[in-house]
Amino acid sequence: MTSVEHSFLFKSPKEDRVILCFFINNLEGFSLPCYPFASSIPETIFHDGGFVTVLSEFDREVVNFLRQEGVLEDMNGHSLDLGRGVIVIRCPDGDQMLDRIEHDRRVAIEAGVTPRIHLLTCHGGCMAIAHGSPLYPDMGIDRFLLIQIAEAVMLKGIHVISAEIHLPCGKAANLGLTILDQIIFQMSSKSRIKEIDPTNKVVCRVHIDYPDGRKRTYFISRNHWIQFWRDKGRDLWGRRFTIDPLQTLGVETVFPPSPSRV
Ligand SMILES: [Zn+2]
Repeated sequence: MTSVEHSFLFKSPKEDRVILCFFINNLEGFSLPCYPFASSIPETIFHDGGFVTVLSEFDREVVNFLRQEGVLEDMNGHSLDLGRGVIVIRCPDGDQMLDRIEHDRRVAIEAGVTPRIHLLTCHGGCMAIAHGSPLYPDMGIDRFLLIQIAEAVMLKGIHVISAEIHLPCGKAANLGLTILDQIIFQMSSKSRIKEIDPTNKVVCRVHIDYPDGRKRTYFISRNHWIQFWRDKGRDLWGRRFTIDPLQTLGVETVFPPSPSRV
């Protein structure tokens, strides 16, 4: 039987990095060095025999700002064509799952169609599919999920795919990811899901469990986010990244191609 014998978060005061250490049975323990700016990641606390993650002050500020700027949009006006259902890739977080399923069920019923929610789960949600994802590096999880999605499209005839992240997410917190990192990996995952079949519609959604108990599902457009980053995001938070997020997504390059010599 497998059991996690010991698990802890270690914040290195010297490097401002967080390291998750855990040891399973007698297997080697391993640690995952995380991103800098540890003070702004969601706080994970040990409570009642398990870890509970709460929204960080930084993520709360970013969420409020992205709401103000219309980057995180209410689902109204983005009525998905749910006639044949939706394939949802999200984190299995047991504290949030019911709200997400009930939301999609309600949206389908309001649209006058039978809910068909085809759920694919992985800790951290769609981020596991992103290029360079730190979630499960070199374990083939991205390929596994992409195969699952392609199969779901084929087996169920569903052509709407929802690539999702949520906050606060224990997996993201353990890796030191802020909402900005999560959105970038989400956008990268969208590109890879599109590669399966460009005719599939891929939407990005963000579920947020606010400290006051409200739970909301938002739509985030890749184009709006890119425009926002160019206009304001880069000035506000660009220093947090060693590689600009738009470069990571292949939207901009540092060295433009040299002009043709012809
Ligand atoms: Zn999660």
